[in-house]
Amino acid sequence: MLTGQQYKDSLDDGRLTYFEGERIDDLVGHHLLGQTAEFTAQGYDKYYNPAPDATSPLLSVPRSADDLRALIPMLHDAGMMAHVTSTSIQTLKTAAGKMEGVKPEYIERMNAYIDEAQRNDVRITQCITDAKGDRSRPPGKQDDADAYVHVVDRQRDGVVIRGAKLHITGASFGHDLLTIPTKAMKPGEEEWSIACSVPVNAPGVRIINTTYAPRHEDTRAFPFSSKYHYPEGFVIFDDVFVPNERIFLDGETSYAAIFAHSLGLWERLGGLSAFVDESDQLVGLAQLVAEANGTAGISHVKEKISEMIIHATLIRSTMEAAIMNCNIGPDGAAFPNELYVNAGKFHAAANYNVMVRHLHDIAGGAVLTAPAPADFENEEVGALARKYMSTSKDVDGEYRSMLMHTIRDLTADAYGGWKFVTNIQAGGGLYAQRIVTRKHYDMDRAKRLAMEATGLTEGQAH
Ligand SMILES: Cc1cc2nc3c(=O)[nH]c(=O)nc-3n(C[C@H](O)[C@H](O)[C@H](O)COP(=O)(O)OP(=O)(O)OC[C@H]3O[C@@H](n4cnc5c(N)ncnc54)[C@H](O)[C@@H]3O)c2cc1C
Repeated sequence: MLTGQQYKDSLDDGRLTYFEGERIDDLVGHHLLGQTAEFTAQGYDKYYNPAPDATSPLLSVPRSADDLRALIPMLHDAGMMAHVTSTSIQTLKTAAGKMEGVKPEYIERMNAYIDEAQRNDVRITQCITDAKGDRSRPPGKQDDADAYVHVVDRQRDGVVIRGAKLHITGASFGHDLLTIPTKAMKPGEEEWSIACSVPVNAPGVRIINTTYAPRHEDTRAFPFSSKYHYPEGFVIFDDVFVPNERIFLDGETSYAAIFAHSLGLWERLGGLSAFVDESDQLVGLAQLVAEANGTAGISHVKEKISEMIIHATLIRSTMEAAIMNCNIGPDGAAFPNELYVNAGKFHAAANYNVMVRHLHDIAGGAVLTAPAPADFENEEVGALARKYMSTSKDVDGEYRSMLMHTIRDLTADAYGGWKFVTNIQAGGGLYAQRIVTRKHYDMDRAKRLAMEATGLTEGQAH
């Protein structure tokens, strides 16, 4: 296993990564992006085991509902890079279990790759979303064939790929880019039916980073986003060679969708589990700010917080249901229940705005205008800021300001804006979650119940 320091050292491998127009020579030492490497390193150290044959529990494959339940909080604790790596590993395991009938070497390579990743304790990011060009046209009918990542050359020992994968969380901070088709492919789309793993430092890979990390010198008013940020990467594959042993699908169009579906399931479980904790956090903030404002006993405030509690509890229930009703694949790997994951993730994301609306409503305008921590230290206005931000002798003005900063940081500033868009788009977007939920719902049972209520029989319908 790697220590945090070994992880940080491993990033100095010649990777080509860019931020706001400049190439980054020292990722770990970068004034903004270096923090991401630091948090990821802390996640390594937390789970480090010096035994020579130890492997990280973060990269384990769950085999039961209990394993799944134990894995989720560990991934939250270790941070986003652990989450995306686990998702990548589970995606390959789930896909491998569904690929009967295709070349057996693909399955052997996936299993060998998982073993190697576990042994080397690497971090893997999930590259699925292509540039996609004109959304109404399939890959083969685009003006630019590179709109979807595809094979441009075939050699005896591997293939050469070209294209780009966009919005890739943490791409510059992992070791490998798990690159898979973003959707189902049809006959004629063989060159776009490519799934493989590419090292971040492979010749031809370039990554452009974006981040919501606050640019302020004093980041105390950004208690969350100044600590936790994982830049998205715009990953360009400019004629990148991939050796055979890292290729998991090459040309078999009818298997392309298996990768996207497998990743979607695990990515949405990750999204759902994050919503579960975040929803409780929003409830907690609503209660704390209501108490600080002196409104906690007022009926409309209590009703809003009750609604928030119901939302938080319902989505927690969907996660529990997804774990309890997990399925076991042919080689014993457990994967969460598709119906509950997708319905829960959809519901959590689609109703997040209501949670935030209640929170903003309860908190008041100081969410946007509370004086900064440094203002409280100013000799001329500090004491007055404290006096007027306080609401009673029991509620300190600076404490109340910090609650407001936390609410702004989480829901109404750069990170909050990122969160609003991410809720809708990440995990394939709400549209995809709706489709998968419908696919796994027992419609026949629903129709039967409806028919029973009519008092008619099937035969009478025709
Ligand atoms: C912060 C963030 C992190 C992300 N992390 C990752 C990551 O780590 N890895 C990764 O691979 N992806 C990642 N994504 C990408 C995410 O999965 C996509 O944004 C999402 O799938 C939508 O794709 P798009 O952005 O290209 O939008 P579009 O595909 O353009 O979608 C926009 C809208 O158009 C609709 N639409 C598009 N095409 C069609 C069509 N043919 N038929 C019907 N409706 C259509 C969509 O349903 C949607 O409503 C991330 C996104 C964000 C915002």
